Amino acid sequence: MCDLFKRELLFKVLVIGDFGVGKTSIIKRYAEGTFSTKYKITIGADFALKQIDWDSETRINIQLWDIAGHERFGYLTSVYYRYAVAAAIVFDLTRPDTFVAVSKWLNDLRDKVSLPHGKPLPVIILANKGDVAANKVPVQIEEFCKKNQIVSWYITSAKENRNIDSAMNRLILEALENQ
Ligand code: GDP
Ligand code: MG
Repeated sequence: MCDLFKRELLFKVLVIGDFGVGKTSIIKRYAEGTFSTKYKITIGADFALKQIDWDSETRINIQLWDIAGHERFGYLTSVYYRYAVAAAIVFDLTRPDTFVAVSKWLNDLRDKVSLPHGKPLPVIILANKGDVAANKVPVQIEEFCKKNQIVSWYITSAKENRNIDSAMNRLILEALENQ
């Protein structure tokens, strides 16, 4: 019966980054609790839903958008970014070039979307595949985050389910504060 009094929010969260860094795996892990080593190339936009009872008054429907094959262009259309309230930029710890690309993804994001009141979207960085390369964190990451107003960064593993929930929770918290 308490459901009657709950506020229900819909958060569109973008998961972006280069091809093969683990975006789809992170989304699957977070929304479905599964992991697969099979490469799946989906074409077109794709999203997963996860419902969280954040507190006794708040239910959040998180819509995680997977860029699903559009990575190869290196940018996205504004339509894709529209109405998003937060973003996770993912790179692969085993491939340093994917960290270099984080800056490109961030620029694309900031160019094309901001919150209704003009504030920039909260962004986190996920250094993924921490199960195989946790020792390969780029030395510049801390400075990069500070310089670019990144909320926080995490070493994650979609394979071993490391840090994905805590990273997403942090992002949701930021989005809630912007409500
Ligand atoms: P996307 O192109 O960014 O969506 O990347 P995918 O989610 O398709 O993942 C690319 C490949 O990396 C797949 O073979 C995954 O199984 C693998 N992968 C994804 N996340 C992890 C991880 O945390 N650890 C390891 N070892 N492999 C991962
Ligand atoms: Mg994918």
